[in-house]
Amino acid sequence: MLPQMVARVTLEIALRKEFDYSIPEDLAGRVEIGSRVKVPFGSRLVLGVVTGLPDSSPHTNLKPLADVIGAQGLVTPKVLALARWMAEYYCCPVETALKSVLPDAVRKEEAGWRERLHVHYLPPTGELPKLTKRQEAIWRILEEWRELPLQELLRLGETTADTVRRLEDKGLVRIGSQIDERDPYARELIVPTQSLTLNPDQLNAFEQITRSLATVAPGGENPPFLLHGVTGSGKTEVYLQAIDHCLTLGRGAIVLVPEISLTPQTVERFKARFSTGPRATLVAVLHSHLSTGERHDEWHKIRQGRARIVIGARSAIFAPVDPLGLIIVDEEHEHSYKQEEAPRYHARDVAVVRGQREGAVIVLGSATPSLESYHNARRKKYRLLELHTRATEQKMPIVRVIDLRLESRKTKSGAVAIFTPELKEAITQRLERREQTILFLNRRGYSTSLQCPKCGYVAGCPNCSVALTFHRAEQRLLCHVCGYQEAVPKQCPAPECRNPAIRFSGLGTEKVEETLTRLFPHARIARMDRDTLKRKDDYRRILTDFRTGKLDILVGTQMIAKGLHFPNVTLVGVLYADLSLHMPDFRAGERTFQLLTQVSGRAGRGDVEGEVFVQSFTPFHPAIQYARRHDFLGFYDQEIEFREQLKYPPLARVALLTLKGRNEDKVKFTADALRKELDRRLSAWRDLVIAGPAPAPLLRAESYYRHQIMLRTKAMARLSLELTALQTGFPLPDDLTLTVDVDPVNLV
Ligand code: ADP
Ligand code: ZN
Repeated sequence: MLPQMVARVTLEIALRKEFDYSIPEDLAGRVEIGSRVKVPFGSRLVLGVVTGLPDSSPHTNLKPLADVIGAQGLVTPKVLALARWMAEYYCCPVETALKSVLPDAVRKEEAGWRERLHVHYLPPTGELPKLTKRQEAIWRILEEWRELPLQELLRLGETTADTVRRLEDKGLVRIGSQIDERDPYARELIVPTQSLTLNPDQLNAFEQITRSLATVAPGGENPPFLLHGVTGSGKTEVYLQAIDHCLTLGRGAIVLVPEISLTPQTVERFKARFSTGPRATLVAVLHSHLSTGERHDEWHKIRQGRARIVIGARSAIFAPVDPLGLIIVDEEHEHSYKQEEAPRYHARDVAVVRGQREGAVIVLGSATPSLESYHNARRKKYRLLELHTRATEQKMPIVRVIDLRLESRKTKSGAVAIFTPELKEAITQRLERREQTILFLNRRGYSTSLQCPKCGYVAGCPNCSVALTFHRAEQRLLCHVCGYQEAVPKQCPAPECRNPAIRFSGLGTEKVEETLTRLFPHARIARMDRDTLKRKDDYRRILTDFRTGKLDILVGTQMIAKGLHFPNVTLVGVLYADLSLHMPDFRAGERTFQLLTQVSGRAGRGDVEGEVFVQSFTPFHPAIQYARRHDFLGFYDQEIEFREQLKYPPLARVALLTLKGRNEDKVKFTADALRKELDRRLSAWRDLVIAGPAPAPLLRAESYYRHQIMLRTKAMARLSLELTALQTGFPLPDDLTLTVDVDPVNLV
């Protein structure tokens, strides 16, 4: 075998193994590390990525590569290295990690480039030949435009392709096929914007970031920045100017935003700033609402180095920007940065790793930082940048908490209406003043917690500080962390209450909309949640109607909690703040605090001061009270104490093992065996807590039973290696699967 004629390939079908192939002569010049290739495997052809070009192979009789996809290696060596790290840390095969670093559209190269016929004007060499009226009309159009897609020309000239062919025969035009880039934002009118004069807080943040840009080096000591600023404090303006500076240094930037806030509004702000001027560059957008073709083209604009700025959701962290100068993770606390299928990576954490490896500056921004990130800032692992006030004159909205227990005492049955009189009155006022209202109900939470409508008592676990979950089949209350269980009480257990009408809470946005229509028959109302957004354009259409004043009230789930900027919204109502509070998750308080703060941030973004009503059965819960006072630090200090006591993140890291199968006894039995195996393998670890097995909060999902074991340690990188070994070394019955989730954000 000649040197350099072997390609080591990771195949897409996860086999946790690499295979050697020979490189046939006709492909020799086109194979590099990161090339996507098609190779024979058994009797079929499969896709893979070249992960090495060794001088020789220990194997003989290598099969040749069948084909190379694309003109350039698609996985750059830097991204390849990142994928390897990801596979190790998140306990998954390299093949699986590699699969997620390229968009499907690029990976499969089915979409390809779109070629269309274009007509080009050719200056006449001599005297103009005789033309019919119609031919001349067409020719004049082209004389003006110089070049047009054929279809466009036919539309403008109201003629057929025949006429154009005649002109081609006469040597006046040339028809050729040409790549047409699909631009998802082609129809948007983008008005360029200029940098704003930064206020002192913003300037400080900007200067620290740019100073860091001048000094970072790959692998160097670079602590990431945590930019903490209330909603509307001007974080985005800091990002924009930092990116601008980054471009002057000849480096590109990646901006991650949660899928949900990747609205046309957000994209437009970035495009508008960078669409003109001396450093004008393409801004590529990557998210799931693009067509396959659009995604293909956007990605290749980045790979070719034409787009230097990428804005996108989670997977945009793998965009092949090179050299990379800046990574911004906006709303860094958002749980949608975590991928819920293998590879179960957290894009914020991958961003930190990538930034440090490539010598890029990392900026994590949020109005409500995650406990993890703020803890890092306190420990000086991150550098804290703070924006203390809103950038414009607007005040923070006034937040009023309404005690639903008082409401329930007013009725015989102990039941409460969806709208308290205070909230009803506030909505009426807004309708009269032609101002707008947003009503929020977090329906995704569990509606199965047991709560007393009279006193607000919620059944909780004595060992774990999480709410117990009602399991209908067994009619029992269960703790999903430690397995503790008890019978469903016949009356409220709180000694001073004893309400016999204790029950399970449950209420959805649909019911809210229906009630609202009855209460305010003349109001124009729209609902926004997963059920109402059926078509691709629904989201944009509803938001446009709301912005242009065609709607008075918008009802929705957390989909409407974030990022939206509507100056005419002066009232926000949170109908039932307790839903997210009693999820069986140690982050329930944190999530509630974040949600309330985010929703409140939607009010009073214009000239009129905003007002927020929060209806709750537990109005004195710290998450609600600190959100009411816009007091992040207060919330952090009391929450971190609770995490410390129980050794929950950020004081330790968590790995969650979930066993799934159709037969519950088998799942349970195997989970017990798995626990024993863990005890045996890890008995020497002092810094390790193993809890469970216990039934998963969602015990049965899609007809699979799930049992979980939770591990907590500070040394996660080391535990990851152990868990990978366990995955390959622990024999599982055929019909069971084991998933390993490192740093889970979702415990169900
Ligand atoms: P955030 O990203 O923190 O929510 P934005 O960057 O969206 O905040 O800023 C909120 C509003 O304040 C926007 O309308 C923005 O144009 C404006 N703004 C930001 N910085 C300034 C500034 N330095 N001067 C004037 N207006 C500003
Ligand atoms: Zn428990």
